[in-house]
Amino acid sequence: MEVGYPCDAFMSTNVNNYRHIFSFMLKFLLKLQFHSMLKRQAGDYWGSCSGRGAGRDAIEGLGTNNSDATLGVFKDNPLLHFKSQVKNMRIGQGYDAHRFAADRRLMLGGVEVEYDLGLAAHSDGDVLIHALCDALLGAAGQGDIGRHFPDSSEEFKDIDSRILLRRVVDLLHGMGLQVHNMDCTIVAQAPKLAPHIPTMQKRLAADLQVAESRINIKATTTEGMGFAGRGEGIASYAMVLLDE
Ligand SMILES: [Zn+2]
Repeated sequence: MEVGYPCDAFMSTNVNNYRHIFSFMLKFLLKLQFHSMLKRQAGDYWGSCSGRGAGRDAIEGLGTNNSDATLGVFKDNPLLHFKSQVKNMRIGQGYDAHRFAADRRLMLGGVEVEYDLGLAAHSDGDVLIHALCDALLGAAGQGDIGRHFPDSSEEFKDIDSRILLRRVVDLLHGMGLQVHNMDCTIVAQAPKLAPHIPTMQKRLAADLQVAESRINIKATTTEGMGFAGRGEGIASYAMVLLDE
């Protein structure tokens, strides 16, 4: 039988006490860390939005209580407001591809690109704008480009795709949606597209009614792989964010 010394009981009580104190301190430090993280996030958000003192003042009040001063400025906790801003955005993606064809103009991003082949399509074959329209319609929950502009309709024969894009933007504005930004990639082995990208950016910004800084256009090859790599056609991917 193991004989316990009186001090064993004393030590084990002390160890338990230390454990409680340590656990309490750890919780306190974590709480403190989380609180300062919330303040920093809210500060970044309001700093970028207002740049005035009001946001900072209200953030200083965050966590003390929802005082009249704080509520008077925002009617709400700024962090909750930040969350609601994030919730009111919609994302959409689009993809399109067309074959090369002779005796066609090559239209990409609303720009005529000099090349000996164009893209076969019922419209002008602007594969980038088609992917973009699909991304916009997708974000708005409005199906795809084929549903709105069917290739069976004579109305859209050889139509300038920028007209279709502007119609999509009008539809979105009618629903109370605004374009926040877009990013896209054109996949083509040839021709070289880099010199045309600034003009594409300008035209798409005008059609989407946003600043050029909100439009990003990239072009890539596939190093000879796949249909784009073999020079059979061009593909495009697009992504957009909409503000509700
Ligand atoms: Zn298309």
